[in-house]
Amino acid sequence: MNRKKIVAGNWKMNKNLQEGLALVEEILNSNISLRDDQEVIIAPPFISLAAVAPMLEGKNGFALAAQNCHQETSGAYTGEVSAKMLKSVGVSYVILGHSERREYFGETDAVLAKKVDTVLAEGMKVIFCCGEPLQIREAGTQNDYIKAQIENGLFHLPAEAFANIVIAYEPIWAIGTGLTASDEQAQEVHAAIRQLLAEKYGQAVAEATTILYGGSAKPSNAAGLFAQPDVDGGLIGGASLVAADFAAIIAAR
Ligand code: PEP
Repeated sequence: MNRKKIVAGNWKMNKNLQEGLALVEEILNSNISLRDDQEVIIAPPFISLAAVAPMLEGKNGFALAAQNCHQETSGAYTGEVSAKMLKSVGVSYVILGHSERREYFGETDAVLAKKVDTVLAEGMKVIFCCGEPLQIREAGTQNDYIKAQIENGLFHLPAEAFANIVIAYEPIWAIGTGLTASDEQAQEVHAAIRQLLAEKYGQAVAEATTILYGGSAKPSNAAGLFAQPDVDGGLIGGASLVAADFAAIIAAR
């Protein structure tokens, strides 16, 4: 299995420019040693991207991500940022479909499918988030829910595009709540996602696609989650804002 192992830090709407640069500096000074198959991705707010990019340049295994982008390539969309703009400052990944974007900004599957195309067309990679709310988990229908999100957001793509797609499974009930999916719950959904990819695109694509877990991951639970055969790393929110915690999570991978 040669798929990439990734730990990505999603800062959300935290850290001003100065705080953000200090955090990146701290992360880079944390003695992180990465294997060839490992990647660390940092996703600060838009305002910090251009300043963080040169700090990561030449740092093997580190990459820069944006937390969102607009689905259109340019035009009269006041306040928005395009994929081309992100590319121009050195971004290589864009997080799309985070549950906070879906919930607070009304991002639909159709809009997300368009955003995916826009990001891929610029030669960047997508971290595509999916995950169920609590009531779906309680009803036991999480796999169907996630299947629909992935089919609607990604299954218009040809198989080759999956070289540039990372999937992040983030149960909404575990995001920022302190509740983490158990190792078994995470593995069960990740295996179902991989099976879904295998059915649509074949085993090779399924085996090569990195699937991250997100939802209250921290140093104390990361190793258990990452030890699961279909969990290829994590998308980390709160714990990515503390360099020592983020470094410990990376070490767990
Ligand atoms: C996230 O929002 O991507 C996330 C996983 O957040 P947290 O780690 O804080 O639950």
